[in-house]
Amino acid sequence: MLGREKIKDLLTSARTGRKVEVKGWVRTRRGNKNIAFIAVNDGSVIHNIQCVAETASFDEEVLKYVTTGASVRIAGTLVESMGKGQKLEIQAEEIEVYGPADPATYPLQKKGHSLEFLRSIAHLRPRTNTFGAVFRIRHTLAYAIHNFFNDYGFTYLHTPIITGSDAEGAGEMFRVSVLDPAKVPLQEDGQVDFSEDFFGKETNLTVSGQLEGELGALALTEIYTFGPTFRAENSNTPRHLAEFWMIEPEMAFYDIKDNMDLAEVFLKYLVSYVIEHCRDDLEFLNKMYEPGLLDKLQAVLENDFKRISYTEAIEVLKKSEKKFEFPVNWGLDLQSEHERYLVEQYFKRPVIITDYPAEIKAFYMKQNDEGKTVRAMDVLFPGIGEIIGGSQREEDLDKLMSKVKELGIPDKDLWWYIETRKYGTVPHSGFGLGFERMVLFVTGMSNIRDVIPFPRTPKNAEF
Ligand code: ATP
Ligand code: MN
Repeated sequence: MLGREKIKDLLTSARTGRKVEVKGWVRTRRGNKNIAFIAVNDGSVIHNIQCVAETASFDEEVLKYVTTGASVRIAGTLVESMGKGQKLEIQAEEIEVYGPADPATYPLQKKGHSLEFLRSIAHLRPRTNTFGAVFRIRHTLAYAIHNFFNDYGFTYLHTPIITGSDAEGAGEMFRVSVLDPAKVPLQEDGQVDFSEDFFGKETNLTVSGQLEGELGALALTEIYTFGPTFRAENSNTPRHLAEFWMIEPEMAFYDIKDNMDLAEVFLKYLVSYVIEHCRDDLEFLNKMYEPGLLDKLQAVLENDFKRISYTEAIEVLKKSEKKFEFPVNWGLDLQSEHERYLVEQYFKRPVIITDYPAEIKAFYMKQNDEGKTVRAMDVLFPGIGEIIGGSQREEDLDKLMSKVKELGIPDKDLWWYIETRKYGTVPHSGFGLGFERMVLFVTGMSNIRDVIPFPRTPKNAEF
């Protein structure tokens, strides 16, 4: 009995002359009255396998449905190809059509659709070379991430997606509620009475797993989370999604330097893993989307990341001749144009910026002795800007509490976090890598909507 083989394996198979079977989708059909060349793809690899069918040997009623987009099973003999463009092909002996795709309406009839158009058919775009390549690389990156942390002895900790604390402070949140919006129960003061809601309190989708991750690190020493996070910000940029995936390692006994070292070996490992395992897809994207992609990836491996303080970064920016849209002043946050100037034009390599002003960073970051800055670190990448945000965490109970008070954070929501500073606190650090930003960097795509299968952005949740 024949068994289906993946096209990826067949195309590298050394054993010709044997019977094989493939299942997949027709990418193109060429030929004439007597012979049909059917290119089939099953998503296992960017290349198609060519199946050659002598039309006389097949039922006309079957062959007429073998058109672009149709799903098929083809069995035959694997042979060396006489034609240009492929080494191997299948001499078809059996063809079965699972589902036809009407050429009059199938949207992916020809190549060369714009990425904008393909976004409007997100249900079909995985069938294109581009999205096949992107999603295979996305998968490989995810796999490499688990591999890396497993090898380093980290525990994968699942932090909650629904959170009861609105103190994470990383952005606007999506409320999770089962209350009927048409008749919301109100308290005497006119505020919504969440005690009648599902969890008996106000709940939201998480913006970060960090706070819970810290609880894990203060027991398991080294943990990481890898899950979806949500931000209800109306930022319509090529680098923001309302739903994105984040990798957040959190390590006990790591100071900021250890944290930077980990971030750098981690990012380099991911890049080298993808170079090694996604050659064909990268070459395709290098050709079609970002000439120089492969060199750019190689450059990340070969250069040490430049490490500078925020204060030094501000000096560099102030000295530059460049006209920025946003002002540069000590105390103001760096905008993406500033970050990209530092990385792409000034240092020409990834940059890690540390010791940001306390005012522009989160309450949990470790305060430096001079009081004005915190031990934050952002990793900036070419073409992307911020790819990682992290810090050493404030482990001192008194300092943490004075910060919580100063910012008016309701500590009743955070009592569990604060308790870890009361019982067995240790220096610790962590960071968050935006998964889609990493996929963007590695694939050379330019819009974050094109590196996640079903993007969630303002006014867009169709698929
Ligand atoms: P930015 O300033 O770019 O909006 P941030 O400082 O708000 O990002 P963090 O809260 O530090 O982001 O989140 C950690 C990482 O998650 C970022 O470095 C980035 O890679 C990624 N990230 C943050 N917001 C988004 C988003 N809306 N869509 C996709 N990735 C994001
Ligand atoms: Mn950040």
